[in-house]
Formats: sequence, structure tokens, C-alpha cells
Amino acid sequence: MTTPNHLQARTKLNNGVTMPWLGLGVFQVEEGSELVEAVKSAIRHGYRSIDTAAVYANEAGVGQGIAESLKELNLPREDLFVTSKVWNADLGYEETLAAFDVTLAKLGLDYLDLYLIHWPVAGKYKEAWRALEELYRKGRVKAIGVSNFQKHHLEDLLQDAKVVPAVNQIELHPYLSQQTLRDFGKARGIQIEAWSPLMQGRLLDEPVLKSIAEHHGKSIAQVIIRWDLQHGIVTIPKSTKEHRIIENASIFDFELSADDMAQIDALNRDTRVGPDPDNFDF
Ligand code: NDP
Repeated sequence: MTTPNHLQARTKLNNGVTMPWLGLGVFQVEEGSELVEAVKSAIRHGYRSIDTAAVYANEAGVGQGIAESLKELNLPREDLFVTSKVWNADLGYEETLAAFDVTLAKLGLDYLDLYLIHWPVAGKYKEAWRALEELYRKGRVKAIGVSNFQKHHLEDLLQDAKVVPAVNQIELHPYLSQQTLRDFGKARGIQIEAWSPLMQGRLLDEPVLKSIAEHHGKSIAQVIIRWDLQHGIVTIPKSTKEHRIIENASIFDFELSADDMAQIDALNRDTRVGPDPDNFDF
């Protein structure tokens, strides 16, 4: 694949819908002006994808930031790509349909671009997937996918699914390179999207990344985000600071060499910053 060369470049998902390679995450950002301003700042600086979730309890502010941006920048809704996720407590056919309505109302939108099952709760995700398929069939969401699904969850889901998930959003960064899920995604047409791409800030002193960053005159965050894109991984770094929102998207003016990429790949140690999808309880 050719590495995307601008902030609004998109990947084509398995149903033909296109999704920006780079977006803004808003986990752990509470409702309020900081959130609204972060969303507005990102869109103003060229981001076109925003990733939220029902459980982040910030869909209303994300919606406000989107609405104000569309108006101020005179952009059509179709230019944006908005993702949300159904929370564990709402997994079930009727429950998930109802949760989707709440999400859409909070966001103030009449459709979503991507709706994900947030976690693979045993015994529940198949019914929720039927609901997502129904929402997709009705055109209320342009693409449907999953998050935190391991290979065995996907294999199980695919036994009954009528629609193959378009995306699997998983924890992925240089300390957790997720090769198994990337290979599976490639074989089955499921786009991988990295959450906590910066490992929530824990990689920002990593010596190998530091030396590569210095060599390119870039920051460690920029090197990681570039590594994602050169690997064909959609990525959604979170920041509420305008200068970092700009920094994280200023990655189209340099290229990591094959040797840089190999050095970063070699950092993998299967270490997570978030919960293990095979052993979570919430
Ligand atoms: P990230 O790996 O994106 O790291 C965010 C942290 O890094 C924040 O503390 C931020 O601080 C800081 N940061 C951002 N940019 C820079 C920079 N250039 N230099 C220095 N520090 C920086 O963590 P997240 O967990 O937020 O992951 C990203 C997104 O992924 C989430 O926001 C969410 O949308 C999604 N996600 C999905 C999950 C799922 O289960 N599906 C789970 C977790 C996340 P500051 O804001 O102060 O700049």
C-alpha cells in the first residue's frame, strides 16, 4: 500500500466506505469547554475523524464541537467521520438498538459513520452484532465493527455474522504490536485501528524512539503515528492541547526508513496499558 500523504487521506473499508487514517480520540475528556474546543481545534486543523464512545460520557460535547465546526467552517456533515461504541451494559439486540438511538441523539447526528462493539463480552456480542447489522441495513450507520476482539472472538463472530466487521479497534503501539490480529485483519478484510497509540504517554521517553525521532527532527509521538500509517493502521491519538493536536498530524513531511520501521517493530513486548480482552470484568 502507499502511505497516506495528507491528513484527510482515507482508507477504503471492506464495504467501500472510506475512513480517515488519522483521527482524534477523546477518551477521558469530560464534557465541557475543553472537550468542545479540542474537537473544534482538531477539525479546524484538518482532522476529519473523531472517536468517542457511550462510556466516555462525552458524546454531547463531541456533538457540540462537531455542530459548531460544521457551521463555522461551512463543511458538509459527510466530510466528517464519527465513531462511537456500544457499552457492555447495553449489549443485546434490543438494548443495543436503544443505545444507538441515545448515542445519536447525544451527538445530535442523524447517522454515524462507524459503530463498534466496545468489548467482546462473552455470550452477548453476537446479539449486539445482529443489532449493528440491522442499523447498517437501515443506513443509520455507514460501517460497523468491533473493538478489543481477539482472533478467537472474531472467528466466533464470523460463524454467524452476515456482515464482516469493517474495523477492529485494538490497543496497539510499539510495545504491543498485535501481529496476530493484524495478519487476521489483512486476511479477512478487517481494518485495524490503534487505540492508545502513544501508550497514553508512556512511550515518550523510549530510547530507540528517541533516537529515531532526533534523527528525523520529529517528536516521539510523531514517529509512532507515522509508524502506524506506514503499517496501514488507522490511528486516533488523543490530545486536548491545540499544539499537540497540530503536532500529531504533522507527520506527512517525513518518512521512516525500513530500518527505522524494523527497529520500532522490534520494541514489541506484548505489554498493555489497558485491560486484556481475554480477562476483563466490566
Ligand atoms: P493516547 O495513546 O492517544 O495518549 C494520550 C495521552 O498522550 C494524553 O495524556 C495526551 O495528553 C498525551 N499526548 C498526546 N499527544 C501528545 C504529544 N504529541 N506529546 C506528548 N504527549 C501527548 O491514549 P488514549 O488512551 O487516549 O487513546 C487514544 C484514543 O483511543 C482514545 O482517546 C479513545 O478515543 C480510543 N480508545 C479506545 C479504547 C477502546 O477500548 N476501544 C480504549 C482506550 C482508548 P494531552 O491531552 O494533555 O495532550
